[in-house]
Amino acid sequence: MQGVLFCVGARSNALLGAFIHRTVRGQAAGGLRHWPYPTVEAFVRDGLRLALAMTRKNALSGLWWGGGKGIICRGLDSDYQNDHYRETLYAEYGEFVSSLRGSYITAEDAGTTPSDIMKVFSKTRFTTCVAPHAGGSGNPSGPTARGVLSAMEAALEHLDQGTLKGKRIAMQGAGNVAKFMIEGLIERGVEQVIATDIDSDRVALLRKVFDGKQVKLHVSQIGDLQIFSEPCDIFVPNALGGVLNPDTIPLIQAKIVCGAANNQLLHDMRDITALEAQGITYVPDFLCNRMGIVHCANEQYGQVPGDPNIERHLGRTWENSIFLITKRVLAAAVQEATSTSTAANQLADTLSLDPHPLWGHRGKQIIAGLVKDNWHTQLKA
Ligand code: NAD
Repeated sequence: MQGVLFCVGARSNALLGAFIHRTVRGQAAGGLRHWPYPTVEAFVRDGLRLALAMTRKNALSGLWWGGGKGIICRGLDSDYQNDHYRETLYAEYGEFVSSLRGSYITAEDAGTTPSDIMKVFSKTRFTTCVAPHAGGSGNPSGPTARGVLSAMEAALEHLDQGTLKGKRIAMQGAGNVAKFMIEGLIERGVEQVIATDIDSDRVALLRKVFDGKQVKLHVSQIGDLQIFSEPCDIFVPNALGGVLNPDTIPLIQAKIVCGAANNQLLHDMRDITALEAQGITYVPDFLCNRMGIVHCANEQYGQVPGDPNIERHLGRTWENSIFLITKRVLAAAVQEATSTSTAANQLADTLSLDPHPLWGHRGKQIIAGLVKDNWHTQLKA
């Protein structure tokens, strides 16, 4: 960990944090979480864990970015849904990010909305995921869905199971990413998609969209585990994290689990071991759901229709494409008799030590400058 920087917002009184894990590949990039924590220890632990995860995700994605994470600790007595409070809070976070001189680049994450990011953007240039009207790249759900499809195809090829044509897919969550994913699955000739969502309006909408297609949509209740036991070739977690756990894993019928949701394993080691014991090939989420961050990564370089810098992630020729990296990780796991998560982490850790081709390890110099100039005494946020 290269830097952990905190401040208490002078106007919001909120604890603001930036966790800079590694900057060898470039500036530490990762979203800004706005979340309640019972203790400062829990806040710090989460920041350290999430920043490391971003180093790995960015490196595996072939982005010239290091890894970091921002966290605003949601005060238990704060009126965090109040618009005026949020404007103050996110403007302060923007000032905080500016004070870090570009060592950390922030973005949207759980608890932070597109309009919050616009407040951050009003105070710093070191953010991405800005709104399209301010030059941002917009909703990344379509590319995210395509990325996950690419990883599914890699996993099928790895297992000598052919293509998606004729396969049965069971999906938990029928939100933004899922809609694009279902469209892609239909285009690729799957036999059937069975999807559930707890939001009945969403299910009604998608039933109209996919009327007459090989798609079954069900409304489920929170805690309803039926979708996990659907007979299928691929199980797709597209709702929330933590859904792969001792209650759900024994129900899964699929040979492959691959989906967009972040942090799908409730307990990393325990749950990947259980999946593998059941003969399930697990595609780690951070391997296949990268397109959200990829989409935002190069906003400052302008936008090109059918941008080749985005498309190469979804193709099959670039060595860092989702397809080739997924195949490489799955093969390494078999060869080294290790889990797919461990194989992905090992590859990511190696890639994360490649220095930025133009800027070298500049992040280290920036942080050294902050220390030399007594950053902590100058901060005005
Ligand atoms: P979304 O909020 O549009 O969709 C999630 C859907 O899951 C919602 O419709 C919700 O009602 C449903 N849901 C919640 N709990 C459920 C449950 N227990 N059972 C069934 N359905 C349930 O989100 P999204 O943008 O489609 O993203 C899906 C997942 O992928 C999220 O975990 C997100 O963090 C992750 N992700 C998204 C992107 C992106 O580009 N949008 C990128 C990377 C990762």
